[in-house]
Amino acid sequence: MVVGAGPVGLTAALLLARRGREVTVLEKHEHPYGLPRAVHLDDECVRVLQAAGVAEAFARVSRPMAGLRLLDADGRVLVEFARAPGAGVHGWPQASMFSQPDLEELLRAEVARRPLVQLRTGVEVAGLVLHPDGVTVTDRSGARLEAEAVLGCDGARSTVARLIGAGEVPLGRPDRWLVADLQADAPLDVWPGVHQVCDPHRAATFMPVAGDRYRAEFRLRDGEQVGDVDLPALLARFGAADTRVLRAVEYAYGARVAARWRAGRVLLCGDAAHLTPPFIGQGLGLGLRDVHQLAWKLDAVLAGADGSLLDTHRAEREPHARALVRLAVLLGWLMTGGGDRTAVLRRLLLAVARRVPGLSSQVLASRTPALRRGPLVRRPRLGPAGPVGVLLPQPTLPDGRRLDDLLGEGWALLTRSGARPRLPRGVRPRVLDASALPPLGPGLHRDWVLVRPDRVVAAVSRR
Ligand SMILES: Cc1cc2nc3c(=O)[nH]c(=O)nc-3n(C[C@H](O)[C@H](O)[C@H](O)COP(=O)(O)OP(=O)(O)OC[C@H]3O[C@@H](n4cnc5c(N)ncnc54)[C@H](O)[C@@H]3O)c2cc1C
Repeated sequence: MVVGAGPVGLTAALLLARRGREVTVLEKHEHPYGLPRAVHLDDECVRVLQAAGVAEAFARVSRPMAGLRLLDADGRVLVEFARAPGAGVHGWPQASMFSQPDLEELLRAEVARRPLVQLRTGVEVAGLVLHPDGVTVTDRSGARLEAEAVLGCDGARSTVARLIGAGEVPLGRPDRWLVADLQADAPLDVWPGVHQVCDPHRAATFMPVAGDRYRAEFRLRDGEQVGDVDLPALLARFGAADTRVLRAVEYAYGARVAARWRAGRVLLCGDAAHLTPPFIGQGLGLGLRDVHQLAWKLDAVLAGADGSLLDTHRAEREPHARALVRLAVLLGWLMTGGGDRTAVLRRLLLAVARRVPGLSSQVLASRTPALRRGPLVRRPRLGPAGPVGVLLPQPTLPDGRRLDDLLGEGWALLTRSGARPRLPRGVRPRVLDASALPPLGPGLHRDWVLVRPDRVVAAVSRR
């Protein structure tokens, strides 16, 4: 059972259904959340949408993003970090812009096509009782439902997190921003990337989203309310004065991770497990990675694998979530924090930074860091880990398909000349001839490469 039909909960349900599991999704609201939220996903996350069966539909409602420009208070470009056009190593554009309600709509449409997923709206979860092999869930009306497991994907104010006493580790102070979604009758003459205004007096972000939509965000000053802000004047700085304001709301950006991610067969994913300021556009991305990594483990446990497999959920996801939240807080401060003296220092540093070759790809990189050695990652104790613990790249095959479509839902063994490792108990991979595949990238030309269902390289042969 999944609690919460946000993008993370719906993706979890689709991933489990593709493994043949029946899933009930409980959602307290009748309709999807309509307020402005995520606009950016990277290629790793679109790969998760591919696993859920919605990446092609996502490509139709999104567009590739050009990069990041840092501007001073007068709108002059301090530095530009450009993205390379075209597909990246994961088979999709390295960054895509979209409107979160569009993504939620297409996820709901896919859920409606899957007989194994039942979405029940208007059901608010209020209680949980844990059993060794399952969970009893109660809703507000007192009705009871039995589940083999519960994924708490119920967002930043998660009831499931509260019910399991998840607690939280704060990683930064809340920051208040005005967030506005805009619509333009004719395309605006603007650079097609993210504009970040590094003005400590009025930090701002502006970006074209997709179609006729644009997003503007302005940090609120102490005591300032949304109604106090002269929005048309601020939008005019980006040439967007004539756009229609669809929504303008205040968000207090939090920065934290849950202290506990699991109690028995109840597990937290998405904003229920971590909350990040959106400076690097990774909040939803973290949640999609959570469920991609968890769906196959939960499926295996429900099929009889040892329940301790679920302990790797937090072990594998929390360090990444913590690092990204910290990075978002730090970059947010570096780009927009401090006072006038910091602004001068920032200008000097950026003047140097723009001359550093290869810095763009470093600044914009959002790769999931390599997983540490563990029961599902056979990294050597000493010496370089090579590609183990890292996501396998996804080249396009000669017939136009992407690699993941060939790998299927489970484990995969890419082998040359029939070489095979001793496989972990219960692992029955799909075996593919690696010599018939396009080059996979540095360190992956081996006798064999064992790939987990979430496309993490679990082990490689020495040669
Ligand atoms: C201004 C802004 C900009 C952002 N930009 C980006 C970005 O560019 N890129 C990015 O990756 N992320 C971004 N994010 C973050 C992203 O929007 C969130 O991380 C994402 O929505 C989290 O999805 P979720 O499914 O975990 O939670 P939610 O989308 O919050 O869904 C949770 C669902 O659970 C339901 N629910 C709650 N309690 C219960 C209950 N007791 N019973 C039943 N149902 C319940 C809720 O009604 C809701 O539908 C941004 C966020 C904001 C605010």
